[in-house]
Amino acid sequence: FSTTSGRDGPTLLRHADIAMYDAKRQSVAHRVFDDSLEQSSTMQLSLSAALPDAIESGRLLLHFQPKFDLSSRRIVGAEGLARWDHPEFGLLTPAAFLDIVLVSESSLDFAVGTIAKTVDMISALADRGFDVPIAANVALGALRTIDFADQVLEILDRTGVSPDRLVIELTETDIQLPSPNMLAALGRLTEAGVDVSIDDFGTGHSSLERLRTMQVDELKIDRSFVNGMTENDIDRELVRSVVDLGHSLGVGLVAEGVETEGQAAALLDMGCPVAQGYLFARPLPPDEFTALVVANAAESKRAPSVEHRNPTRSLLTSRR
Ligand code: C2E
Ligand code: CA
Ligand code: CA
Repeated sequence: FSTTSGRDGPTLLRHADIAMYDAKRQSVAHRVFDDSLEQSSTMQLSLSAALPDAIESGRLLLHFQPKFDLSSRRIVGAEGLARWDHPEFGLLTPAAFLDIVLVSESSLDFAVGTIAKTVDMISALADRGFDVPIAANVALGALRTIDFADQVLEILDRTGVSPDRLVIELTETDIQLPSPNMLAALGRLTEAGVDVSIDDFGTGHSSLERLRTMQVDELKIDRSFVNGMTENDIDRELVRSVVDLGHSLGVGLVAEGVETEGQAAALLDMGCPVAQGYLFARPLPPDEFTALVVANAAESKRAPSVEHRNPTRSLLTSRR
């Protein structure tokens, strides 16, 4: 903070808070307060104050984006993506609030709530006869907390959902420096059968050794490479090398952010079995997602495919 910051104690503290949040967001050690920070942070401070209530009252929700088998176009999985249904600001995406959530005291509640909503959706679909594994994004902070794995296992136990239907997505950056706590928590979950998927793959540096010791089940090819792959040779070769790596490790592969038929065709050609992206479906509210799962299954019945029902899972289970 700065000595010119505010004329009274409370203002000074508030400015220090604003600077601290911005420092965390930018991953820098310190930040000097100035007025522009305050403008961009008015909304953030307000969100920060409203967070515990929002979690309590169910205003933090999940939308679901399906993952499609590229050759049959069947839904073979999904990912839960956080949204905040804010009374004043409308429906917010994680860019507006995730940083606030992750540095707050509610971060464990948020992570556990995310898992609970994911598992509820898996369970609701199973009740209707649809077997759809769903992934939850989990930030490093939650995994460092001893309680987290216990709470996840308790949720699975209570709902009767098989752990191998739940997938945990960790970013490649987050697994670069795994702490003993994180490895212990992950170990408990993977031993129970929960799958681990590495998100934004290609943006960090994970050693092959780490992928092996962490029992990774799936790699998600980062959107930035998929985005450029039909125009840019380097991106295309990067995608190809991740696909090849996935095959050599015997793990599932999902391409993220697929927006064009050209990308879908190129991915299929390279041997990437599964994709997610606006070409197929945007993240959808729970009822619309459920309706899409139902419609997609009905369509597949009308046009039976010769493909294996669920290539991602078959790749994964063949390892075990
Ligand atoms: P992510 O895990 O990489 O999720 C994919 C993001 O790409 C989502 O943004 C999704 O809406 C967007 N997306 C999907 N298909 C396309 C496409 O074809 N084109 C483009 N341009 N974008 C596409 P969203 O929902 O805004 O989420 C952003 C990030 O926030 C996520 O990136 C994830 O890192 C994080 N996040 C989301 N939900 C949670 C959560 O419950 N917990 C934690 N810790 N992080 C979350
Ligand atoms: Ca993700
Ligand atoms: Ca991603």
